[in-house]
Amino acid sequence: MQSNLNRYFSQLENFGHSLKASCYRIPVKTTEDIYEVFQLAKRLGLKVTARGAGISYNDASLNGGGIVMDMSGLNQIQEWDPASGVVRCESGVTLEQLWQRVEPDGWWPPVVSGTMKTTLGGCLAANVHGKNNFQVGPIGEHVVEFTATLPTGALVTCSPTKNADLFYALISGLGMLGVFTSITLKMKRIHSGLISVDAWHVPDLRRQLNGLLEHAPDHDYTVGWLDAIAGGKSLGRGQIHGARQLKEGEDPDAQKTLQLSFQHLPDRFFGVVPKSGLHYFMKPVMNNFGMRFVNMGRYVSALRAHTFRQSHAAFHFLLDYVPNWERSFGRGGLIQYQSFLPKETVEDAWREIIQLSHRNGLPSYLGVTKRHRPDKFLLTHGVDGFSLALDFKVTDRNRRRLGAMLQEFDRIVLNGGGRFYFAKNSETSAASARRFLGDETIAKFKRLKQRCDPNHLLESDLYRRVFG
Ligand SMILES: Cc1cc2nc3c(=O)[nH]c(=O)nc-3n(C[C@H](O)[C@H](O)[C@H](O)COP(=O)(O)OP(=O)(O)OC[C@H]3O[C@@H](n4cnc5c(N)ncnc54)[C@H](O)[C@@H]3O)c2cc1C
Repeated sequence: MQSNLNRYFSQLENFGHSLKASCYRIPVKTTEDIYEVFQLAKRLGLKVTARGAGISYNDASLNGGGIVMDMSGLNQIQEWDPASGVVRCESGVTLEQLWQRVEPDGWWPPVVSGTMKTTLGGCLAANVHGKNNFQVGPIGEHVVEFTATLPTGALVTCSPTKNADLFYALISGLGMLGVFTSITLKMKRIHSGLISVDAWHVPDLRRQLNGLLEHAPDHDYTVGWLDAIAGGKSLGRGQIHGARQLKEGEDPDAQKTLQLSFQHLPDRFFGVVPKSGLHYFMKPVMNNFGMRFVNMGRYVSALRAHTFRQSHAAFHFLLDYVPNWERSFGRGGLIQYQSFLPKETVEDAWREIIQLSHRNGLPSYLGVTKRHRPDKFLLTHGVDGFSLALDFKVTDRNRRRLGAMLQEFDRIVLNGGGRFYFAKNSETSAASARRFLGDETIAKFKRLKQRCDPNHLLESDLYRRVFG
């Protein structure tokens, strides 16, 4: 492997194509391969980062000048029990593989990201949340057990009761303590391939927040679209989707709707236009002027409240509808900034953030809101409050100003007692991380790092940025 290192040389990017890193990308297929990569890194004085699907919005799976261990080949579903809903998978299995295996048997993954392309290893390392975070917590709360290879070569098995300190730290630990190899998860029972969705508009920020808060108990999932370009009295307007699973007997065609053929997302728009090319048509409107009109149109079309039924895949993976949609942001790509704020301070903080983006002439083209609750994981981003994810277009001209503005956002979020999510933001500094995590958490994380990775082999660009 050593003499051939150059053949692994790759230019890697983040999901938003706004960051790049030159790395040695080495595919692994077994735990022995993982151990061999650690040995190689130690001999050569290189750092190692695990990479699943490589679609974090930021630098979580980039490692400039180091080794990126490609986990996507470790992708076998090892055991599936349709009677209990318990599944054991290798860590490179994607959510797409997982739901397609369990759904026809009447089960669904308990927590999913907005894209099905993520791997289970990546989902655990970030401890992803879904649109049901306020009801069921992050994915880590549904892990029965996992096995991980530590850089020392030790293979550890962890559950909430076995090696619990490692369980709560490796999940959320951004792959900086060890590499997941096998993951056992409990699925959620479903009685139909359909989900019932209520959609209603909200005319301003206060009603956006109240809508998420008050309607959450009646729904299994809630998510809001926020028009981040609208200002004045309309600041924070948008649309909320609240969805609930159908109860047994509610869907007379359950046998049919649970079939995979019913779940597949169409690959053509209106049955004609191939969706693979749609991002080319979106590109010309991806500017402040064009998006103002797109958002206005979207808001007007949301004015009529309605209820409809949709397949699970269509509801959960809306972002997979248009393949490569992120390319529509142009050559400089996009940065997603997601803030998590307690319900007491959220309104003022988001108002300030959105107004600041307007004053800078750098509005976000897409805003997504969710309701959250806290959890017990070490590097948690959970709060009893809300999150707002904002997508910003990056250009050569605005890159520096945008970076400075996002640092200002950090200050507003921290003043509001908020938190950040390490799978999203690209700007969070070590000082900001220390402020929201607290000295005690950072000290605990560093003690575990010393125990699991005494030679500091596991590092990523993100790790150096926030813990460096
Ligand atoms: C369109 C889109 C929608 C999204 N929606 C959501 C959402 O709704 N909710 C949410 O929470 N997140 C969301 N995300 C973020 C995404 O879920 C996370 O970034 C996730 O970690 C990506 O998984 P991945 O397999 O691509 O991981 P990568 O990007 O490859 O890696 C992410 C982190 O996991 C580590 N890692 C990967 N594999 C392993 C392993 N086997 N062992 C140890 N560490 C490992 C990496 O080192 C890195 O730190 C979204 C991302 C996109 C692009």
